[in-house]
Amino acid sequence: MISEAQLRELLDAISATITAHAEELTTLDSAIGDGDHGANMKRGFDAVAAEAAALAGKPLPEALKAIGTKLVMTVGGASGPLYGTMFLTLGKELATAPEDYTSAFRKAVDAVAARGKSAFGQKTMLDVLYPVADALDAGKSKAEILAVANDEVAATKDRKAIRGRASFLGDRSIGHIDPGARSSALIVEAIAGAL
Ligand code: ADP
Ligand code: MG
Repeated sequence: MISEAQLRELLDAISATITAHAEELTTLDSAIGDGDHGANMKRGFDAVAAEAAALAGKPLPEALKAIGTKLVMTVGGASGPLYGTMFLTLGKELATAPEDYTSAFRKAVDAVAARGKSAFGQKTMLDVLYPVADALDAGKSKAEILAVANDEVAATKDRKAIRGRASFLGDRSIGHIDPGARSSALIVEAIAGAL
């Protein structure tokens, strides 16, 4: 069970990581999107960090649902509703089956895919989130999971975007890393570092 102090630390860690990499995310999104992914993510996780104390005081499922709602309201873009759905579903699943983190994570990723009408391999955040779900299922170590996440970020470079704004570029999306894949890996990294 995650303690209040741990949850607080975790929220601060995600926010700090996103802030530290906001410019990088924006640069990635400038190449195949509209250059707002860094600002979008920073706005969202700053809003979460601003309420970290109150959020951490809630039971974990309630905190996750509140984070999801906050992200939907603040991130904007395509990624806001998708990351919002991920945290909302994590909260819902953990309310029903506490401690079953691995299954909750997979259901949250499935919910993102349903919301985005997207799948693995389409050069989106799912290209990282599904392999991380697989790595969790396989009982891989933290270091192995981080390696998977980073490898999968790199693998988006050679893919053609099939969903999201980058898909408007068709073949010209090939040769660039997907910004949402990178932000997903950063979130995974922050969580792994804090737990
Ligand atoms: P926008 O594209 O509206 O400007 P952002 O720049 O914040 O929003 O987020 C872009 C990221 O969102 C992409 O890099 C991609 O990873 C993710 N994304 C976009 N559409 C989808 C989708 N349908 N399914 C999954 N992820 C998506
Ligand atoms: Mg964008």
